[in-house]
Amino acid sequence: MEQGGQSGVVGRLAEVRGRIERACHDAGRPVRDVQLIAVSKTFDAEHITPVIAAGQRLFGENRVQEAKGKWPELRAGHADIELHLIGPLQSNKVREALALFDVIHTLDRPSLAKELAKEIARARDEGGRPAPRLLVQVNTGEEPQKAGVAPLEADAFIAACRDVHGLVIDGLMCIPPADEPAAPHFALLGEIARRNGLSILSMGMSGDFETAIALGATHVRVGSAIFGGR
Ligand SMILES: *Cc1c(COP(=O)(O)O)cnc(C)c1O
Repeated sequence: MEQGGQSGVVGRLAEVRGRIERACHDAGRPVRDVQLIAVSKTFDAEHITPVIAAGQRLFGENRVQEAKGKWPELRAGHADIELHLIGPLQSNKVREALALFDVIHTLDRPSLAKELAKEIARARDEGGRPAPRLLVQVNTGEEPQKAGVAPLEADAFIAACRDVHGLVIDGLMCIPPADEPAAPHFALLGEIARRNGLSILSMGMSGDFETAIALGATHVRVGSAIFGGR
């Protein structure tokens, strides 16, 4: 019983991996085209360590402060661990975020683009960590309470990130409305990515990652199906 929590996590990780493989197969896509980001927010080292030991290397966190508290120690000795920021980024946390994260999924406004450009240049001049990959978050459901640029503003925002701020944009991320079928939102994100020449599509969570894979997701962000309820 003592081991229950941990072996439970590893068993669920294997289950999710199996479901990803089947979804890729069903979609006629190579399994290597879809990366699993294990979303470890709210879980502590005791839950995450067995997942690292089982070979998982991409992890998602939604808060800079929380990630800063647990990941420096967890990733020590695992140079190949990739940390993904999937939650909102405040401009005054950008420097800390650059010191921790390999991919930022939540670029969503001009002021953040400006601050990222400034701090990425500073890190480069100081010989710091390489610049993170950057994804633009699109609010596909145009929900007022949700972060992300509106679908109709996405092309202009991506162009401004590139041309005004000199940023390299690698892809897009979305979180569909909880009370609607996700497929149309994933399809819309794919269209915006295609017309902007972007290759990374971060979409799909525990409840809908198979649908996201069918619609072209390159990165699925799965939390509760691996770690359990929060
Ligand atoms: C928490 C979170 C996830 C994971 O959600 P689950 O439903 O637990 O898989 C994915 N993406 C974002 C942006 C999140 O905040």
